[in-house]
Amino acid sequence: MSEAPQPAVDAAHIRANLDDVAARAAAAARAAGREPGDVRILLATKTQPAEAIRVAIDHGFPLIGENRVQELTCKAEALADLPHEAHLIGPLQKNKVNHALREASCIQSVDSAELAEKIQRRLEAVDGRVDVLVQVNTSREASKSGVAPEGAQGLLAALAPLDRLRVRGLMTIGLPGSTEAEIRPSYARLRELRDALIADGALAADACELSMGMSGDFELAIAEGATMVRVGSTVFGARPAPR
Ligand SMILES: *Cc1c(COP(=O)(O)O)cnc(C)c1O
Repeated sequence: MSEAPQPAVDAAHIRANLDDVAARAAAAARAAGREPGDVRILLATKTQPAEAIRVAIDHGFPLIGENRVQELTCKAEALADLPHEAHLIGPLQKNKVNHALREASCIQSVDSAELAEKIQRRLEAVDGRVDVLVQVNTSREASKSGVAPEGAQGLLAALAPLDRLRVRGLMTIGLPGSTEAEIRPSYARLRELRDALIADGALAADACELSMGMSGDFELAIAEGATMVRVGSTVFGARPAPR
């Protein structure tokens, strides 16, 4: 993490924002005929200081997601005394697999057989297991990571023999700056893909996790079946622009 002075953490503000997100998520679930408890809120904590994350964990939000392995590692150390669950939600380079597996209980960004095999080999060496989500590029942006929807079945077939990985479902990242009319079909597509893969037996019946939706659109994602939404800026405020 950077040595630049961090602005003071406004704990009361973070708690109020968390309560607001939880209420909105619950209302969106009910409006969709779902139970609020069926949607978990993951805090996307990239660039946030550990102090801010502590406030959130203490307030009853123990599920966090980091984009970069380096930050995941730093924060795991800073938060070691607080029970919480960390997921990796950003791309994983093969040379960082060992570090990621030390701290993350779920890798949400598995999008190639090569990466999955690397994870498998590492877990065999340390006798470990990890939950994974298959990241799907539902917006068909060439720049996005994730397997193409039509490639998901093949990737799952490649993952099937990798017994150290427990596939829990699918993840997608919406296109930033897109409108509701653009984003909603990509979330619907992820749900339809999950249902088709379960029907085909490519996904286990209980591997029904759908990680989708961010600050600007998590209610839409819940309407389309999200079981986990990933929110950052609406809880912690705008992030500093990347340097
Ligand atoms: C940053 C990030 C989020 C959260 O974005 P916000 O708009 O700040 O809520 C969700 N998912 C991923 C993969 C992210 O990188």
